[in-house]
Amino acid sequence: ALESEPDEVKRRVGIMGGTFNPIHNGHLIMAEQVHSQLGLDEILFIPNNIPPHIDTKTAIDGETRAHLIELAIADNPHFNLDRIELTKGGVSYSIETIAQLKQQHPDTEYYFIIGADEVAYLPKWHRIEELVTMVTFVAVKRTGFTQPSTYPVIWIDTPLVEISSTDLRQRIEQQRSIRYLVPVKVAEYIVKNGLYQDDKH
Ligand code: ATP
Ligand code: MG
Repeated sequence: ALESEPDEVKRRVGIMGGTFNPIHNGHLIMAEQVHSQLGLDEILFIPNNIPPHIDTKTAIDGETRAHLIELAIADNPHFNLDRIELTKGGVSYSIETIAQLKQQHPDTEYYFIIGADEVAYLPKWHRIEELVTMVTFVAVKRTGFTQPSTYPVIWIDTPLVEISSTDLRQRIEQQRSIRYLVPVKVAEYIVKNGLYQDDKH
């Protein structure tokens, strides 16, 4: 209609939140497919500082995880890193991150991208009832997770990629190859700096 604001005014930004311990090609493939299929302006990769769920294994430090993201996304002009949760510190809750982003960018629409494992877990997310009013959830399938969503999500079709950070950490520890599972520069940095060599991660 003539009286409504033109759609071009609103930026549409995808959020890839996670621990990224480490980032891998599964993350990049899903982000790229969502970007292209929804025609988003940009994808923001937001590594958490401390994930909310109880996890007996600790992640490597946030700055190193962020650096690996930088190496992974450097060649993609519509992928960007946002250190918002690392800068804030403490336990990272998506609701607080999105509230902060929306305050800074009131004209941006946010699309929160998750794998099917997180779709199943959404009812446990902190203040999820509020969060679903603030973002559009976008989901991609993941091996072993077929549960329908409790909340509205847009399913995007991507190749089913079985790569996980957990599996990568085990491969590194067991000195098996991670070539082609992560970008070349990420693999090189991990090897050069001896990351994930012991079982503490
Ligand atoms: P971990 O094994 O340590 O949990 P992960 O591979 O699941 O690592 P996360 O950083 O936990 O990676 O994931 C961030 C987001 O990316 C989550 O929403 C997760 O569901 C999604 N995701 C990660 N890998 C895949 C994949 N291979 N296919 C679909 N979604 C994925
Ligand atoms: Mg995970």
